[in-house]
Amino acid sequence: MSPDSRLRLSPSSVNDYNNCPQLYKYRSIDRLPQPPSLDAERGTLVHTVLHDLFESIPSNRTPETAIDLLPSRWRAQVDAKPELAQMVTNEKEWLDRASSLLTTYFSLEQPASFEATHREMHLEDDLEENVYLHGYVDRLDIAPTGEVRIVDYKTGKAPRPGWEDKALFQLRVYALLYWKRSGVLPQLLQLIYLGDGKLVKSNPTMADLESAKKILRQTARDIFISIEKDYWPPKPSRLCDWCFFKTICPAHVS
Ligand code: SF4
Repeated sequence: MSPDSRLRLSPSSVNDYNNCPQLYKYRSIDRLPQPPSLDAERGTLVHTVLHDLFESIPSNRTPETAIDLLPSRWRAQVDAKPELAQMVTNEKEWLDRASSLLTTYFSLEQPASFEATHREMHLEDDLEENVYLHGYVDRLDIAPTGEVRIVDYKTGKAPRPGWEDKALFQLRVYALLYWKRSGVLPQLLQLIYLGDGKLVKSNPTMADLESAKKILRQTARDIFISIEKDYWPPKPSRLCDWCFFKTICPAHVS
């Protein structure tokens, strides 16, 4: 099978399919364009600043440095997507909100006290002969003693009690990919929620990785069946309120 004809999976495309096969089709099969979303763009801005913060020497990794980086990183983002200039009508308010998220970050971690070994690390592997799996890890830290920590920043709020496992699926997939690449089982998975200053942590086991692999394989099988039958049932939920495709979705258009 040629690399181009393989099914490409990532934690977000797997979530798309499992949340709503019709949404997955719009995004991953039809590849319909979507306008930028302000929440996603705010996330990109904060991620960029946190990424670049680790370029500084440890003593300069302060809230002031992070907040100083904001205007230039935002200008670069607008240069790349000029439509953002119209979408953000009050730039001061926009940057203030991003500053507040960065301030929250410093209440959860002390970036001067460790080195980020990898940032925006691309991990990939063939899940099966016809399924390619990949993802980008916000940060992967390797301690001097060898322990590995995988970190993901979220600009929203932490999940309600009982929903942490669903949120950790993404990091378990990264842990699986990292283990397949290096033979090392990460010791800690950490989701950092800047929206409400909470952390979700987990010490993964091989059983967690196996269970993530099972979900990935089952989803790949389901997607192949959907492709074969051209069957993409919409699954209406609260997500529809944020779905750009609502105006064309069969569940909402009669
Ligand atoms: S509007 Fe709802 S049901 Fe339709 S594609 Fe979007 S998420 Fe799925």
